[in-house]
Amino acid sequence: MAVHIKCDILICGAGMAGLSLLYRAMKAGIWEGQRIIVVDRSDKGTNDKTWSFWKKDDSCFEELILHKWHQLVFFSNDGSRVALNSGGYTYNSIRSIDFYNYVLSYLRTFSSISFVQSDITSVVSSGDQCILNTAEHTYIATYLFNSIYHQPEPSPKGQYFLQHFKGVKIKTRNAIPPLSEAWLMDFRTGQQNGTTFFYTLPMADDELFVEYTLFSKSVLTMDEYDQQIKKYIREILHIDQYEVLENEYGIIPMTDHLFKRFDGNIIHIGTAGGDTRASTGYTFTNTQKTIGKILLSFQAEGHPFFKEENTGLKQQLYDATLLDVLAQNEYKGHQLFSDLFKKAPAYRIFAFLDGETSILQDIFIMKSLKKLPFMQSFATALQNRFISSE
Ligand SMILES: Cc1cc2nc3c(=O)[nH]c(=O)nc-3n(C[C@H](O)[C@H](O)[C@H](O)COP(=O)(O)OP(=O)(O)OC[C@H]3O[C@@H](n4cnc5c(N)ncnc54)[C@H](O)[C@@H]3O)c2cc1C
Repeated sequence: MAVHIKCDILICGAGMAGLSLLYRAMKAGIWEGQRIIVVDRSDKGTNDKTWSFWKKDDSCFEELILHKWHQLVFFSNDGSRVALNSGGYTYNSIRSIDFYNYVLSYLRTFSSISFVQSDITSVVSSGDQCILNTAEHTYIATYLFNSIYHQPEPSPKGQYFLQHFKGVKIKTRNAIPPLSEAWLMDFRTGQQNGTTFFYTLPMADDELFVEYTLFSKSVLTMDEYDQQIKKYIREILHIDQYEVLENEYGIIPMTDHLFKRFDGNIIHIGTAGGDTRASTGYTFTNTQKTIGKILLSFQAEGHPFFKEENTGLKQQLYDATLLDVLAQNEYKGHQLFSDLFKKAPAYRIFAFLDGETSILQDIFIMKSLKKLPFMQSFATALQNRFISSE
């Protein structure tokens, strides 16, 4: 017979969002004395990804940053190089295994926190309780924080792009870009499969991370990613001898779907809660901002139901507009990003993507882009949001 286990807080999914929330709540003493159960199918014992993000202030996990780049560079499809004016922003990377080890070793010191390794089969909100089922047990709590992502049911007018990528960390004796330089978007590759670029990040004097990234509606075969990576390393980086040290593959949703944050006492966080920016796929910073809001609400009101999202209506409309422009394919993604990074300072673009700009600053950024496709797509985004019944 299934056993019913009661607690105060359930953390459903111990990935970036679930563990960040719990770590930050315990560090701040906000959940002291609460009985907490964390459920995940994985033991988080492998380096399954690297989180990169730009920032200008200290991050919540500053001590885990393994690489920080101060000089940011953009290459357009025609080969021109743009040294970005990043202002006070740096580009940073955290390895997930460092994050899991660091956070879990702290959380395991609390007797009030239990970790369960199991497959979650369902989460349900029922009145003022939440219920989580695994094959073995049923767990009941006052609040449940869910970070298990389920692909949304497509709506006919919605945009469902995928950011899909394969990255390799290589070791070479050939010359590589200087350690201080991150090539944030290098469009010197074919554009036949959608908006396609490389991230090129030096990790040591003889180590380089190269990631082949596409924004499109379907993924490629592994062989296609591998062929393009080899071609880029040979023809653009002029590296002829190297050893592959690590591989990374991933898919991040880029959609204008409106994710539900609250469902009774279930709070969705991370990608499952809509913390992935639809226009960029970046999730780390946005999730940390959401967690900040949840914790402030707990401190001030004793519950997690914060009122104002970081990605508000304005940002949602901008994101939907960009996805529609890409879908129309008249203004090609590589041209759009070239226009943007050549004409607007990068620090302003980062602030814009973080939702920290005024309408006037937004207009200044938009002036760098072709007006007609954006105006048409903005009208579509408005119509889909406010007029269309679907
Ligand atoms: C390879 C890769 C690289 C990325 N790089 C970046 C980046 O550089 N910058 C950035 O901002 N974003 C990046 N992202 C996007 C995003 O930051 C990550 O996906 C991030 O891990 C999302 O956090 P999360 O907590 O929402 O999901 P996850 O970290 O995936 O956590 C979800 C957890 O739920 C568990 N789980 C899932 N289903 C079940 C189930 N049925 N039962 C039990 N457990 C379950 C999983 O094991 C996992 O631990 C990347 C994504 C990928 C895939």
